[in-house]
Amino acid sequence: MTKTLFAKIADGEIPAEIVYEDDRVVAFKDIQPQAPIHFLVIPRKPIASLATADQKDTELLGHCLSICASVAQQEGLTESGYRVVTNIGEDGGQTVPHLHFHILGGRSLQWPPG
Ligand code: 5GP
Repeated sequence: MTKTLFAKIADGEIPAEIVYEDDRVVAFKDIQPQAPIHFLVIPRKPIASLATADQKDTELLGHCLSICASVAQQEGLTESGYRVVTNIGEDGGQTVPHLHFHILGGRSLQWPPG
């Protein structure tokens, strides 16, 4: 199986500004930030998107969300608020086929998104 861009980041083959990692997930700065604070949290397991996650990934998905909250806390976003979003497929605007959660904060975000 060809490694995704994010699997290469997780394995240290492509550099990224990593802010958290453990044996299951990696969090790093988005290369093209859409807000003053923009991080991505990915599972090391190369799940293509939330749509293809398996029931046996439930615990891993929960861990990803929990890490989103702790990275946001680490970055001082808890009080002001922030957004966690995962894009799925073409209409969802997904460009990298490796499940990832965006953490966006540091400014007031609009709703609904475009
Ligand atoms: P998507 O559009 O799939 O939801 O989000 C993919 C995100 O990955 C985008 O926000 C994009 O800026 C980010 N990205 C793409 N390539 C790289 C890269 O090589 N390094 C980092 N750190 N982020 C990337």
